[in-house]
Amino acid sequence: MIYDVIVIGGGPSGLMASIASAEENARTMLIEKGKKLGKKLAISGGGRCNVTNRLPQEELIKNIPGNGKFLYGPFSVFNNYDIIDFFESLDVQLKEEDHGRMFPVTNRSQTVVNALLTRLDELEVTVKMNSPVEAIHYAEEEHTVILKNGEKIKTKSVVISVGGKAVPHTGSTGDGYAWAKKAGHTITKLFPTEVALTSSEPFIKNKQLQGLSLRDVSLSVLNNKGKPIITHQMDMIFTHFGISGPAVLRCSQFVVKELMKGNKDVTMSLDLLPNKSQNELLTTLTRYMSENPKKSIKNILKGVVPERFLTYMLDKINIKEDQKAANTSNDDLHQLIQGCKRFNFKVDGSLPMEKAFVTGGGITTKEIVPKTMQSKLMPRLFFSGEILDIHGYTGGYNITSALVTGKLAGMNAALEAASLAGR
Ligand SMILES: Cc1cc2nc3c(=O)[nH]c(=O)nc-3n(C[C@H](O)[C@H](O)[C@H](O)COP(=O)(O)OP(=O)(O)OC[C@H]3O[C@@H](n4cnc5c(N)ncnc54)[C@H](O)[C@@H]3O)c2cc1C
Repeated sequence: MIYDVIVIGGGPSGLMASIASAEENARTMLIEKGKKLGKKLAISGGGRCNVTNRLPQEELIKNIPGNGKFLYGPFSVFNNYDIIDFFESLDVQLKEEDHGRMFPVTNRSQTVVNALLTRLDELEVTVKMNSPVEAIHYAEEEHTVILKNGEKIKTKSVVISVGGKAVPHTGSTGDGYAWAKKAGHTITKLFPTEVALTSSEPFIKNKQLQGLSLRDVSLSVLNNKGKPIITHQMDMIFTHFGISGPAVLRCSQFVVKELMKGNKDVTMSLDLLPNKSQNELLTTLTRYMSENPKKSIKNILKGVVPERFLTYMLDKINIKEDQKAANTSNDDLHQLIQGCKRFNFKVDGSLPMEKAFVTGGGITTKEIVPKTMQSKLMPRLFFSGEILDIHGYTGGYNITSALVTGKLAGMNAALEAASLAGR
């Protein structure tokens, strides 16, 4: 028997591709290596499944700094609002949270995964679990998918949706890159992204700031000339190895890319008080200090910046914690404000790919037709999801990319299989 479409990989992109293919009445098989479908989807968004994001298209694409512009084509066919409609048609009610993030109202990722599985069932997609694919043999009329156990399955179209290399215990171990290369595709350099960063600064090594979490701070990655490449205003945390938290994850790909250029470290600049200018702080604090000359400088600043940071900064610039406001010079105050507004430090690496949320790099988008997700190099070969050189911030952007490219790949794989039959 020959399938019309075989989809390899049961993550969000493969599930969507299988559904889209079967909705075109194609005889569809989904092959998954593990014993569960949608494993990574289920742990996304803190285990509540961040299915998509409601931001307008321009904003959405800005949040996908890794080749997000490629998605203009696919979005013209199926976009984030279509994803919302799709889930609602499956009886999954969604709700919007901060920054446009969409979650199931049940707050349970299983609601989303189950709805996708029910739809696969309704459409009679053949699902083959515990079946790692080892290779694909491409041919003019039909492709052959070869399983690790030696079984060979023939198909007119094949969709590769096996994800990247991040968090491999979910099943994505990078198996698809070799199959893409065999079809002539170029794989851009892979790197961890949405990942915590390491630092060898003394305050990290001696754990002075370990565990200190900062809310709504502004974190920038600086280039060699000291100019910001990117800035994110969000929360962050100092850890025993470096820094982590939402602002850090968002900055991480820019740091990793600088390091890939051969720089041994990268400077980051932290503004603990991004909503107040240096002058505003100077004016307010000078007035407060002159009204409270007997108060210690530490007590004055305690409500302005976290105490642990303040203790560290006072020590760094050699000001005693009990120094009175009256004895604090303008120069001291300047240094303190500068220390909180422009706290520069170096990072020199990231945690490995296994600990990254997302894989940077992948199959170059130049070799893929954007509106169909078909390979430009091999007939009836399609790709979707994180295996592609497309990567965004966490917040539903990668999942949106996976679902949208999955939809197009599955639908067009089915249409191409049908046109082959009609030749
Ligand atoms: C902890 C965590 C949190 C995240 N949170 C967010 C978030 O909030 N927002 C966001 O946008 N993104 C988030 N992501 C990223 C997002 O989950 C992924 O980008 C997305 O799941 C990619 O979908 P995919 O279908 O391309 O691949 P995957 O979800 O990785 O699925 C690939 C599937 O292919 C299967 N497979 C692999 N090799 C084979 C083989 N040889 N044969 C058969 N099957 C195979 C795997 O077992 C797996 O089931 C998060 C990731 C992690 C790890």
